[in-house]
Amino acid sequence: MFNNLSEKLDKAFHVLKGHGKITEVNVADTLKEVRRALLDADVNFKTAKDFTTKVKEKAIGQDVLTTLQPGQLLVKIVKDELTELMGGDVSGVNLSGNPTVILMSGLQGSGKTTFSGKLANFLKTKKNKNPLLVACDVYRPAAINQLHIVGDQIGVEVYSELANNNPVEISVNAIKYAKEKGYNVVIVDTAGRLAVDEEMMTEIANVHKAIQPLETLFVVDAMTGQDAVNTAKAFNERLNFDGVILTKLDGDTRGGAAISIKSVVNKPIKFVGTGEKMDAIDVFYPSRMAERILGMGDVVSLVERAQEQFNEEEARKIQKKIAKNEFGFDDFLSQIQQVKKMGNMKDLVGMIPGASKAMKDVEIEDDAFKHIEAIIHSMTPTERSKPSIIDVKRKTRIAKGAGRKIEEVNQLMKQFDQMSKMMKMMQGPGGKNMMKMMSG
Ligand code: GDP
Repeated sequence: MFNNLSEKLDKAFHVLKGHGKITEVNVADTLKEVRRALLDADVNFKTAKDFTTKVKEKAIGQDVLTTLQPGQLLVKIVKDELTELMGGDVSGVNLSGNPTVILMSGLQGSGKTTFSGKLANFLKTKKNKNPLLVACDVYRPAAINQLHIVGDQIGVEVYSELANNNPVEISVNAIKYAKEKGYNVVIVDTAGRLAVDEEMMTEIANVHKAIQPLETLFVVDAMTGQDAVNTAKAFNERLNFDGVILTKLDGDTRGGAAISIKSVVNKPIKFVGTGEKMDAIDVFYPSRMAERILGMGDVVSLVERAQEQFNEEEARKIQKKIAKNEFGFDDFLSQIQQVKKMGNMKDLVGMIPGASKAMKDVEIEDDAFKHIEAIIHSMTPTERSKPSIIDVKRKTRIAKGAGRKIEEVNQLMKQFDQMSKMMKMMQGPGGKNMMKMMSG
């Protein structure tokens, strides 16, 4: 995410971070580079200009040149301004309605239907809500079908009226239905067009007027850069929406939309979509995003994700197995599954401070564990629970079954062996000392 921008900003700060003499000229040059980096990332021209002007004013105000570490102070000023630019504080969705009606708007293909599902799933699993999804795309039966598939996946009911081609009626009926059935959130997925057009705007404005949603969300594909900002403007003029959802942030987006949308429409980004799966949704935290853009990582999110996946019972089970020397490849596999649930590898690496930069030339596969899993799946159950029986003959068979080289099997066995030893040491009587040693 935003690798290019991070890299360019890092280069911009390079001179200031060194120990050479820092002058006003250096600072001005750095800010020019920062502005260029923002423009390259497809940040709106005016936004980029205002941004550097503000940073410059602050830098002068705080007398950057006379401080001990001018480079660091300037980076901090940039970080604070970037946070401010993206909305400052985190802004959640208002769920105080009964039911809370949420209207989704945006162009076709922006990720509206997928996000409607993600939001329903998020509210159900994280906020204890009872949501109803409503399919209002009367032009594309496939879209209605798609929402039903999403609903089935997450166990959320989908309201649709196949014979009705009036979205206003459908949404009004859906809210009535929700009240009868006791649903406390209604998420209305509307039709999208490939480009902004009058007919579509009138239609969604009519739905908006009829159902008076507590939250109107505008969904936009982050990969579309400046177009995203222009579309946002058009929708905001008609709907005066409450928040923006940036989807496809997992892709190779340059980041411009995330950075400039708030300053252009003055509406906060509320969530981001980071994948096609139903749990690929993140609350948008401007400060964390700023830190990621500046290559400072996002340890808070990383820890939160780890905590979400942490299963105490499972951890205790594993601990017992290690103590009894019974930790096998099946347990290893289930650990991999847990890590995978935290998100894709590229995303996780980006959350570790400095890691994106250090690993920028390393090709990280989306499914980095694919080969390891294939090798483990090629083992028999006995081999998995008793890895010590795996001899050369077995290794050859395993490699063949997985379609990998025997060297890879060897490497995995070695890693597994080291890991088991390490885990054993951590648990043994010396474990406490070792932990102390490691923490410095
Ligand atoms: P709609 O026409 O606005 O309802 O868009 P869809 O929800 O059908 O999404 C269009 C395409 O984008 C689908 O192939 C989705 O799987 C994909 N998509 C949606 N959100 C994301 C996301 O956050 N990341 C990625 N990589 N793909 C997404």
